[in-house]
Amino acid sequence: MENCIFCKIARKELPSTIVYEDDKVIAFNDINPVAPVHVLIIPKIHIKNVMELDEQNADIMKDIHLAAKNIAVKLGIDEKGFRLINNCGEEAGQTVFHLHYHLIGGKKLGQGLI
Ligand code: 5GP
Ligand code: ZN
Repeated sequence: MENCIFCKIARKELPSTIVYEDDKVIAFNDINPVAPVHVLIIPKIHIKNVMELDEQNADIMKDIHLAAKNIAVKLGIDEKGFRLINNCGEEAGQTVFHLHYHLIGGKKLGQGLI
């Protein structure tokens, strides 16, 4: 996708602090962190959000979750715990329409879901 900022980050056309990368997934620090650890995990291919997943592309969910586990160990938050958040669609607060998971941790998080 030509004008998608996360595609540009994945192609390294925009700067980011990359914390993990493999052939299908890239993860980088959120520009506006809400916790000591706030990483965005994205597929390298453009998928708008969960509603664009199908039988052909959904294997990426496995790769994203294995990346999350890897990053949690690397950043030392695997034992204390962390949260993986996906916002799907405008009402959920999705502002960048390229599938991404927020990996948030490094402090005691609130109990609420909303
Ligand atoms: P959403 O609200 O769509 O779930 O999350 C989008 C996230 O992307 C936000 O937390 C926002 O801070 C982050 N973000 C937006 N633009 C950029 C950018 O150019 N670079 C980085 N690293 N993060 C961004
Ligand atoms: Zn994109």
